[in-house]
Amino acid sequence: MKTDIKSMTLAEIKKAFQAEGLPAFRGLQVYRWLHRGVESFDEMSDLSRDLRQKLSEKYYISVAIIEKKRVSRYDNTIKYLFRLHDGQYVESVLMEYHHGYSICISTQAGCKMGCTFCATGQGGWFRDLAPSEMLAQIQAAQKDSGNRVSNIVLMGMGEPLDNYENVLRFLELVSSDEGMNIGARHISLSTCGLVDKIYDLADKKLQVTLSVSLHAPNDQIRSRTMPVNRKWNVEALLKACRYYAETTHRRISFEYAMIQGVNDTDACAQELARRLKGMLCHVNLIPVNDVTGANYRKSSQDRLQKFSKILSDKGIPVTVRRTLGSDIEASCGQLRGKHEEEAVLNESRQ
Ligand code: SAH
Ligand code: SF4
Repeated sequence: MKTDIKSMTLAEIKKAFQAEGLPAFRGLQVYRWLHRGVESFDEMSDLSRDLRQKLSEKYYISVAIIEKKRVSRYDNTIKYLFRLHDGQYVESVLMEYHHGYSICISTQAGCKMGCTFCATGQGGWFRDLAPSEMLAQIQAAQKDSGNRVSNIVLMGMGEPLDNYENVLRFLELVSSDEGMNIGARHISLSTCGLVDKIYDLADKKLQVTLSVSLHAPNDQIRSRTMPVNRKWNVEALLKACRYYAETTHRRISFEYAMIQGVNDTDACAQELARRLKGMLCHVNLIPVNDVTGANYRKSSQDRLQKFSKILSDKGIPVTVRRTLGSDIEASCGQLRGKHEEEAVLNESRQ
């Protein structure tokens, strides 16, 4: 069994190298190469052939291989379907915004949470991703597109707080000075509401922006679409969010996918405004994406505007999110689902 070297911190690599009689500076050299995105030890050109050979016997480097790629006709959004070493597929989306590039990456292959509107949730859970596999998605997208990513969103497939230790390690690696050096202030983490982990994360005081997939103003509606709500209800979740905002002084971003006739009435907007009152937060309204198999329809633009106005009249900051890459199944889990459906795995293989 080889060791996943890209999931190791610089200190851990140095320690392991020292134990094998290698000087500490070798550890730093290797760490830098790994975080520049090399895919094999042979690319580490300032190491001797012997050392590269020795390392490759003991360690492996995680990579994400492009299985499919779609570029939006409307904007420069690129959606990648990556294949991991064991044949699992995960998705990432690279988006151009304001002054840079932002990437949305996956934290698990599949998801256990079972939200009824979500393609990933409907497909079930396969496994957690290693920290190195989160890094590999960013590195592969950067290499392919030639763009440097400055912001990261943990909002692809999977529930990041259900893979908590690996996500925390990823945050440590990606923000390291000798690594990609992308700090917590440039990272958002999206959760369906694992309340115990929201408290844990708040206490780490990391300055990561917390996005919370709320999608309903009360338990009756939320428990119907999001099974997690039966464990931690809206009240418990909002209490944890207030704690997060107060502890980190970071504004919580609430995601609210508007589903026609389910959660988009005036009464829902009023109830939502009441419950969020006084919290350091922001609401993102998104028309729900059609997911094969789920019987949900997008709310109309009129409905979105009306809902948004009720919130803002009550003092809740709100935006109606533009949908990026709407022609490329850019919503969570859609491309993987489609890929499996098509069964023509060769199409546009890289
Ligand atoms: N598991 C985490 C992060 C991944 S899901 C979470 O749930 O927050 C990423 C986002 O996509 C979440 O806000 C999720 O609610 C949203 N989402 C999933 N399916 C969607 C759909 N069909 N339309 C709109 N948003 C969707
Ligand atoms: Fe999992 Fe998030 Fe999809 Fe829910 S919305 S099933 S938590 S990925």
